[in-house]
Amino acid sequence: MAHLLDPETREALLTRIRFYRDLGLTEFYRRPVDPALAAQFAAESEERPASGIQTLCAPSFRRPLGERVGDHESQPASAPHAYPLEDQHIPPRKPFPAAPEISATAPAADRAAALQLIRDEIGECTRCPLHKGRNKLVFGDGSPTARLMFVGEGPGADEDAQGLPFVGKAGQLLNNMIAAMGLRREEVYIANVVKCRPPGNRVPEQEEGATCTPFLFRQIDVIRPQVLVALGATAATWLLGARQPLAGLRGRVHAFRGAQLIVTYHPAYLLRDPRQKKEAWADLQIAMRELGLKPPAKA
Ligand code: URA
Repeated sequence: MAHLLDPETREALLTRIRFYRDLGLTEFYRRPVDPALAAQFAAESEERPASGIQTLCAPSFRRPLGERVGDHESQPASAPHAYPLEDQHIPPRKPFPAAPEISATAPAADRAAALQLIRDEIGECTRCPLHKGRNKLVFGDGSPTARLMFVGEGPGADEDAQGLPFVGKAGQLLNNMIAAMGLRREEVYIANVVKCRPPGNRVPEQEEGATCTPFLFRQIDVIRPQVLVALGATAATWLLGARQPLAGLRGRVHAFRGAQLIVTYHPAYLLRDPRQKKEAWADLQIAMRELGLKPPAKA
C-alpha cells in the first residue's frame, strides 16, 4: 500500500519545511535518493507491520508544498514502488540566469507610464505554468518614485483574489513594519519574485522565477529605489542570483542595481515565529539608516 501521512503529521511536516524555507534552506528535500538505501528501505517497509505512523515515500519529497499527499495515489502501491527507480532522477540545479542590463533611467514624471508599459507587455501572461492557476496577476503596488521598495516571494490566495501584493495577514504585518519605519504604504513600492500565485503557496520553481524576474528587474530599474528590502530567502535568492542561507545575508548592505539591498525575514515567517520580529526590526533600522529616516516618536 502507498503510505499517506495523517493530516496532523503532514501539517507538522509542512510547518517545519516552511520554517526551513524561511531560513533559506530550500533544497534539502530534493536530494536524490541513494538507490541502495531506497531498496533497503523498501525491503524494510515490506517487513514492517502496519502502524499508526505512516511512511514518507520518495515522491512526497518532490511534491510541491501544499499539493495533496494523496495526489500520487495512482502510482504503484507496493512498497518496492514507494521509491520507483525512474523517480530517482532529479535534475541538477540550474544556474540562475544572468540579471538583465540595467535599463535607462526614466524621469520621475514618466515612471508611472514606464511601469504601465511593462504591465502592458506582460499582458495576460502565459509564459510559465503558473498562469494556469491564476485568478489575478499581481504586478506590484505603490509609488512609482518610491525610495524604498519591498520584494516578496509570490502572491498568496488573498493577493491572487485582489491582484495586489501583500494584502493578506502577512501584508498586515508588512503594513505595520512600514508604519514603524515612519512611512505610509502608498509611499513605498511592493512587488514579488513571481506575479502569479504558485499552487499551495509553494516556492516558485526555477523556470517560473527565471521567466518572471526580468520584469521585476525592469520595475526596479524604473522605480530606482534607494533601498530595496528582500523579504525572505526566495526574494534574496532571486535578487542576488545565488542561493545562500538568510543568516549570511542579513545584517549588512548589498550593492544591487544602484540600490542598497537589505535582506530580512518574510512577514509570513514572522507570523509563525514572532520572536524573530526583533531581528527583522534591526534589519529595517539598517534600511532606515540608509534612507536617513528616524523612527517615529512614540505616542
Ligand atoms: N507573500 C508574498 O511573498 N507576497 C505577497 O504578495 C503575499 C504574501
